[in-house]
Amino acid sequence: MPHDVAAPRAGETAATPDVPYYLPTGTERALFETAHKNRLPLLLKGPTGCGKTRFVAHMAARLGLPLHTVSCHDDLTAADLTGRYLLKGGETVWVDGPLTRAVREGGICYLDEVVEARKDVTVVLHPLTDDRRLLPLERTGELLEAPDNFMLVVSYNPGYQNVLKSLKPSTRQRFLALDMGYPAPEQETQVVVSETGIETDRAQMLVMVANRIRGLQGVDLEEAVSTRLLVYCATLLQAGRPLNEAVQAAIIEPLSDEADVKQGLFETIDALL
Ligand code: ADP
Repeated sequence: MPHDVAAPRAGETAATPDVPYYLPTGTERALFETAHKNRLPLLLKGPTGCGKTRFVAHMAARLGLPLHTVSCHDDLTAADLTGRYLLKGGETVWVDGPLTRAVREGGICYLDEVVEARKDVTVVLHPLTDDRRLLPLERTGELLEAPDNFMLVVSYNPGYQNVLKSLKPSTRQRFLALDMGYPAPEQETQVVVSETGIETDRAQMLVMVANRIRGLQGVDLEEAVSTRLLVYCATLLQAGRPLNEAVQAAIIEPLSDEADVKQGLFETIDALL
């Protein structure tokens, strides 16, 4: 990957094969480290593709901690996180879920898009997020105490939550929270360059397009262009695909299915390029 060999820039830490590349956009790394040291859980808020998952992977590697990641979805139950009895070779055996493994072994448990999960998940998280840091396993009768190096990190996207799917105040107030928007243009350009090896001026152009689309008012888009999509677009360009096709496949089509919205996006982008 190009970013494994990229030289560090101002304010940037060199990516090593062990630490995934992450360009800090503020003081988030210090906050994360302080939260971990003080055994506090952290909530990352921000749109899809703005760097939340990469940030957590980067921090886990920097802190030398195992990372247990769970992508939450609307069928995910507390048992998926804690574990369940399974039949193995004619015997019933308890198998830990990822949250239980993280509590037993230590490390970071990252629940991506936590509001998507079923309601019973928050019940399991509550005793883990107060100073008792306990995980009760009703089925096995165990009461696990999280070790000092355990940290719970959850993310959610405030943009497309509806009333039914937002974090309850009683849950969110158990976390430190970090607002992670898209990186500022200069930083986002740097990310696109580091991730793909594209020339800076071409990356700048993509970031300008993204910011124009992000600033469009009254357009029926659920989500704006993410940093991830810009990285995809630059990847296509670096592979020699033509600009029109890259923009269509990495920016316009992922954003909308509506013919008139896509046409509007095309015209907006066309006017800029
Ligand atoms: P999220 O978890 O917020 O949906 P990701 O962490 O998966 O988003 O980020 C998507 C992609 O965007 C990453 O794979 C990476 O290429 C890029 N990215 C976004 N922000 C940064 C950043 N600050 N440093 C490095 N890469 C970033």
